Amino acid sequence: MRTMVFLLLHIALLATDFDCILVGSSPFSLFEALYQNRLGHRVLVLEEAGECGGAWKGIDVCGVQHADLGCHQIGRDLHLKAFLEKYTGCKIVPMDYPDQPFDSAALGPNGWYFSRGCYELIENLLALIAKTDIVILNHTRAELITIDAAQQIATVKTNAQSYTAKKVIVTPMSSVPLQSMHSGPHESKSKYLHLYMLIQDPTPPRFSYYGGAVRGCSRMMNLTPFVDLAGTGRQLIVLQVHSENDLWNGQALLNGLKQNKLVDEGAYILESEPYIYETGNFHQGLISSAGGQGIIEVLQTGNFINLSSHIPKWEQMLQPVAAGSP
Ligand SMILES: Cc1cc2nc3c(=O)[nH]c(=O)nc-3n(C[C@H](O)[C@H](O)[C@H](O)COP(=O)(O)OP(=O)(O)OC[C@H]3O[C@@H](n4cnc5c(N)ncnc54)[C@H](O)[C@@H]3O)c2cc1C
Repeated sequence: MRTMVFLLLHIALLATDFDCILVGSSPFSLFEALYQNRLGHRVLVLEEAGECGGAWKGIDVCGVQHADLGCHQIGRDLHLKAFLEKYTGCKIVPMDYPDQPFDSAALGPNGWYFSRGCYELIENLLALIAKTDIVILNHTRAELITIDAAQQIATVKTNAQSYTAKKVIVTPMSSVPLQSMHSGPHESKSKYLHLYMLIQDPTPPRFSYYGGAVRGCSRMMNLTPFVDLAGTGRQLIVLQVHSENDLWNGQALLNGLKQNKLVDEGAYILESEPYIYETGNFHQGLISSAGGQGIIEVLQTGNFINLSSHIPKWEQMLQPVAAGSP
């Protein structure tokens, strides 16, 4: 009897709020959350932004809903395409000709993309998560991770409250300090600058993704077909610009598009809006000095195509979605 009481007490003391906490909600983290849940783990996702998706979220901008955050190009990997169709139900289209049927033999230089932009992927992943007991907390920033190496438990302090877990999964771009004996800067940030322009141009969109040089920006997307503006006479273009000054130079950038014949000569700006996305830099080197080995896991992300490296693991547990769902 005494042994039983001792054991129950011991288990109660070691009990954690969750088995696994993920910091961030990029597609990598959302797939991993589903995978961890299928393993039978209690999963918490902490996302400091109001929307999930990280660099792949949809935002409301220039009065248009669910526009891609920034510019995206995935490439032509057909194995990854098949995985996304099978496990998320996303409709994949040729990026360069989004209104035409998919033909792998005739893919344009920019490969494939989601028929409703990256929002479609995140929406479908969230619909799958909604069918599980995974907890997602938006507007919740992980502020500090501390490790109890003896008990093999991590505590994640957020702006609201603290949660304990047996495992914390971060990504290289998440910005969360790890309590460590080493002092020094814990994080550095990178800024990605975007200018959205809703223009009046009744001619058909001339590109979906353009990585060529136009003064002031490094690449751009014409989001018109992905946000359902086709045929309205309006086009939504997002430019990834070089400097904060360029965020206020919409007319000069539009002139550059005209010179490159990327929009009609008569096009003009109806509305423009800047959007800045910041990423962090998780210091993986601090894990061992903080005693976090085996407790803190870094989910390797990087370019979207790197999802492929996780497919063999995820495929073991994830369930294919029925046609036409989720
Ligand atoms: C603007 C931009 C465009 C990109 N375009 C492409 C592309 O065209 N093709 C391509 O292959 N790859 C692209 N990438 C690479 C992209 O980063 C990866 O595909 C992938 O999104 C990386 O996932 P991640 O989780 O590391 O980072 P992110 O996608 O940035 O996600 C990190 C998430 O964690 C959240 N977060 C961070 N710190 C905390 C915290 N302390 N507490 C709570 N939440 C936190 C953030 O809010 C964010 O939602 C792009 C990246 C950026 C930034």
